Amino acid sequence: MPKSEQDVVDAILRATQLGLRVKAIGSGHSFTAISKPDEMMLDMSRLNAVIEVDAAHGVVRVQSGIVLSDLNEYLEKHGLSMPNLGDVAYQSLAGSMSTSTHGTGLSRTGLAAQIMGFRMVLASGEVIVCSADENQEIFHCGRVSLGALGVITEYSIRVVPLFNLQAVEQPMRVSDVLAQFEQLISDNDFFEFYWIPHTKWALTKANNVTSAPADPPTRLSTWVHKMVLENFAFGVLCRIGKAFPAMIPRFATMLPSAGRVEFVNVSHRVFSSKRLVRFCEMEYSISIDAVGKALNEIMHMIDHRNLKISFPIEVRCTGRDDIPLSTSTGRESAYIAVHMYKGCDYDEYFTAVEEILLKYEGRPHWGKIHYLDGTQLSSLYPEYQRFIEVRNQLDPEGVFTNDYLRRVLGR
Ligand SMILES: Cc1cc2nc3c(=O)[nH]c(=O)nc-3n(C[C@H](O)[C@H](O)[C@H](O)COP(=O)(O)OP(=O)(O)OC[C@H]3O[C@@H](n4cnc5c(N)ncnc54)[C@H](O)[C@@H]3O)c2cc1C
Repeated sequence: MPKSEQDVVDAILRATQLGLRVKAIGSGHSFTAISKPDEMMLDMSRLNAVIEVDAAHGVVRVQSGIVLSDLNEYLEKHGLSMPNLGDVAYQSLAGSMSTSTHGTGLSRTGLAAQIMGFRMVLASGEVIVCSADENQEIFHCGRVSLGALGVITEYSIRVVPLFNLQAVEQPMRVSDVLAQFEQLISDNDFFEFYWIPHTKWALTKANNVTSAPADPPTRLSTWVHKMVLENFAFGVLCRIGKAFPAMIPRFATMLPSAGRVEFVNVSHRVFSSKRLVRFCEMEYSISIDAVGKALNEIMHMIDHRNLKISFPIEVRCTGRDDIPLSTSTGRESAYIAVHMYKGCDYDEYFTAVEEILLKYEGRPHWGKIHYLDGTQLSSLYPEYQRFIEVRNQLDPEGVFTNDYLRRVLGR
C-alpha cells in the first residue's frame, strides 16, 4: 500500500529485480479480472490526496487512488464538480479512468476525456509527466490505459463550477422511448432509461442543468425510494427470482417504480447512488442510431430463449472523444448494459447479447464481462495498434500484464 510516489518506484524496482509482475488496483470494482494481480499487488488507496485546486482555470491535481465519492465531496466544498459521473462513486479515480468509465449525456464525454495530464511510474522505475505538451504520445494513449502502461500516481483533471440538476424520473412505454430516443438524448443534458424485461415499460431519468436551488427529496423519502425500494425490496425480488425463475416475469410488473419523481440536487448526488444488490454486468457501446434495432433484437432473443431476467437493461449515451481505447473513441455512443443477479448463471444471456451487439460494431466496457480477445478487439478500435506500440515501448517485458491483459492486448 504505497503512501508516496517514491514507494511506488521502490516497489516496482523491487518487483523487477525479483522478476515479479505488478498490478496496481483501485477499488476492485471491475466485473472482469482486469485488476487481478498475478504476483505483486499495489493497493493505491493511500495515495488519495487532493494536491492543488486551480479554480480559476478549472483544473485539479489529485492523487490517483482517491475514491470518486471523496473527490466529489471535496470538489463540492470548493464550489467545483466533475462534469459527468457514472451510476456509483465507489471507484478510484485511476480505476475509472483506466477502464473508460462513463455516465450519460450526449454533450459530455466519459471521465477520461477530462484528463489534462498525469504522472506515471514506468517498469524501469522512471517517473514521467504526460500532457498535451510533454510525452504527447503516451498522454494520448495513457488516458485509458487498462493499467498496462505503468502505475499512475497523479492526475490533473478538468473540473467545472458546481452545478445543480433538475431530475425527472418517470416510467414510459419502451416503444415510445425508442421511437424518440435521439430526440430525448438531444433535448436533455443527461438522459438514460432502464427497460424492464418481460414488460413493455422503461424507467427514464432526464437530468438537466438548472440554476434553481437544491430541493432534494426528504431524507425519509430518499430512504424509502433509494434504500427500501431500489435496494432492499429489489434485492428480495432478485433472491426469490433466483430460487423460482418462473416467477420473474410476474415480479417484473411490480418492479419498484415510484411513479413520476422530480427534484433538484447537486449534480454528483443525482448522478450516483448506493447500490447494495450485487450483480454481474456486461456493457457494450454502439452507435446511437443502432439502439432501437439492437434493443429490439435483445428483447426477441430473451423471449425466444425463454430467459428469465430480473435486472433492468440500462441504456445511456456519451459524446465522442479521441482516446485510442475509449469505448466512445471517434463516435457518439449509446451504451447497452445487461445485468444478472449474483450467483445466477449469466453465460447464455451475456453471450447472446454480445453476439447481437457485435453486429453493430459494439465495443465492450473494459471493466465489465465480455468474451472478446485481442484479435477481435483490434478491429473495433481504429487506434488499437497505436496503443500496442506505446505499450511495447514502455513495458516490453510485460511487468504490468495479467491474464486479462494477455487476452485483450495479446500478451
Ligand atoms: C456497482 C458498479 C457500478 C458501476 N457503474 C459504472 C458506470 O456507471 N459507468 C461505467 O462506465 N462503469 C461502471 N462500473 C465499472 C467501474 O467503473 C470500472 O470497472 C472501474 O474500473 C472500477 O474502478 P476501480 O477503482 O474499482 O478499478 P479496479 O477494478 O481496481 O482497476 C481497474 C483497472 O485500473 C487499473 N488501475 C487502477 N489504479 C491504477 C493506477 N494507479 N495506475 C494504473 N492503473 C491503475 C487496474 O490495474 C485495472 O487495470 C461499475 C462497477 C460497479 C461494480
